Amino acid sequence: MRGSRETETPYREAVPQTWSTGPGDEDLQVTICGGGNAAHLLAGLLSTRPGLRVNVYAPYGDEAQRMRQGIARRGGIVVVAAEERWVGRPHRVSADPSQVVPGSGLVMLALPAFAHEIVLRDIAPYLDEGAWVGALPARGGFDWCAFDVLGEKGSALILFGLQTLPWACRLRTYGEEVALLGTKKRVDLATWPPHYAGKVARRLSDLLGVRLQPIPNFLSITLANTGQLIHPGVMYGMFRNWDGHPYAKAPLFYQAVDGPTAQILQRLSDEVQTLREVLEHRFPHLDLSAVRPLDEWLRESYRDTITDPSTLQSCLVTNRSYAGLNVPMRRADDGLVPDFRARYLSEDVPYGLVVTRGIAELAGVATPTMDQVIGWAQARLAREYLVNGHLQGRDLGASRAPQRYHLETLEAVVKGQEEVPSYVLPAARVPVQA
Ligand code: NAD
Repeated sequence: MRGSRETETPYREAVPQTWSTGPGDEDLQVTICGGGNAAHLLAGLLSTRPGLRVNVYAPYGDEAQRMRQGIARRGGIVVVAAEERWVGRPHRVSADPSQVVPGSGLVMLALPAFAHEIVLRDIAPYLDEGAWVGALPARGGFDWCAFDVLGEKGSALILFGLQTLPWACRLRTYGEEVALLGTKKRVDLATWPPHYAGKVARRLSDLLGVRLQPIPNFLSITLANTGQLIHPGVMYGMFRNWDGHPYAKAPLFYQAVDGPTAQILQRLSDEVQTLREVLEHRFPHLDLSAVRPLDEWLRESYRDTITDPSTLQSCLVTNRSYAGLNVPMRRADDGLVPDFRARYLSEDVPYGLVVTRGIAELAGVATPTMDQVIGWAQARLAREYLVNGHLQGRDLGASRAPQRYHLETLEAVVKGQEEVPSYVLPAARVPVQA
C-alpha cells in the first residue's frame, strides 16, 4: 500500500476537476458520509451555503430512509446553536453510493473511525479523479487506512484529515434536528500530498466557517489526536475501580473529571510528547510542532468557553462546550451501567491509543500509562491488542497500528512525512468566519 504513496507525480497533477477555484462554489457537489451527530450537522450547515449541492451517503441500517423522512417532516435539517439556527435541505440522501458519490469534488467522512474503512471501500469505485476525500476527525492512521483501501486510486485523489471535529454536537431528533454545542477556535488539517494543506485548509475554512490550520503531515494528526487521550483516559480514571453497581443516572463525563483522572490524562499527554521529541531528534526534518500537550490544546481550542484555564482538570471541568455531556451508559436490570462498547473506547483505543502505542513501540519509547489504559480497555472491549508488553494481540488487524499495515520500522512510518509543504500561510491570513 505504501507503493501508491511513493509515486509522486500523479498527486502533483491531481487538481480536482469538479472543484471550483473561483470565489463561488456553483459547481461543487459535496458528499457527506455518515448518519450520526456530525453528519447531521454538516449536512444541515452546508446545505445552507448557496451554490453547493450537498448529498449524504448514509449506509448504516435504515439511517438513509429515516433521515429522508425526518428531512421531509421538517423541511430540512435544523441546526440549533445557542443564539442562532439554520435549516439546510440536502439534495439527496441515499444508502447507495452510486446515487450520491459520483461527481463530488469533496467527500467528507463524518464518522467514527471504525467506520472509515467500510465506507471507503463502499465509495471507492465512485470517487472522481482529483476529488478531495477526508475525515473529520481523522483519528490515528487515517492515511494508512485510505491508501490500503484505495490502492492506486488513492494516488489520483487528495486526502485530508482534521485533527478533531470542529464542533461539539448532538442529535436531538433523527433526520430533523441537531444541537451545535460549541465550535473550536482552530483545528489543524493535514493533506496527502502534504503541499495541498494550505489550499485545502483555506477552502474548507470558508465552507465550514471554522479556522482550519494547515500542518505539515498526517503523522502529526495521528499523534495529536486528543480523543485518544481524553476518552479512554477519562473512562479508565472513572471506572477502573468500579464495583459493578448500576447508576441511577448517567454521570457527567468531562465535568466529573477528578484530580487522579486529570493526572492520568497528564501522563498520557506526557508520553505522546516524549514520543514526539524522540521522533524529531531521530528525523530532524520532521515537523511535529502541531503535536501539542493536552492542556495547551484545550486552552487554544476552547479559548472562549473555558472559564478557568489554570489546570488541565479545570480546562475540562469548566468548559461550557462540554457542559452536560454524560458518560455513555446502557440499561441494565437495576439501572444504568457504563457502555464500554461505545466509541469512547471502541473508536479511541484501536484507532487512537493503539496507533500511537504502535509508533512508540517502533521508537523504543516506554508508555507505561498508555499500556495500563489499553490493558484495561481491551478487557472491557473483549479485544486483544497488547500482549506481554507488545502489540501482538489477535485483534491488531482491526486497528490502525502501523504494524497492521506492515510498517515495521520508524523509517517506514515517517517516509514521505518529512516533505516540507510549499504553502506559506501565516495563521492570521486563514479566512475566518464566525
Ligand atoms: P456518532 O456516534 O453519531 O456516529 C454514529 C454513526 O456512525 C452512525 O449513526 C452511523 O451513521 C455511522 N456508523 C457507525 N457504524 C457504522 C458502520 N459500521 N458503517 C457505516 N456507518 C457506521 O458519531 P459523531 O458524534 O457524529 O462523531 C463522528 C466523529 O467525530 C467521531 O470520530 C467522534 O469521535 C468525533 N467527534 C464527535 C464530537 C461530537 O460532539 N459529536 C466531538 C468531537 C469529535
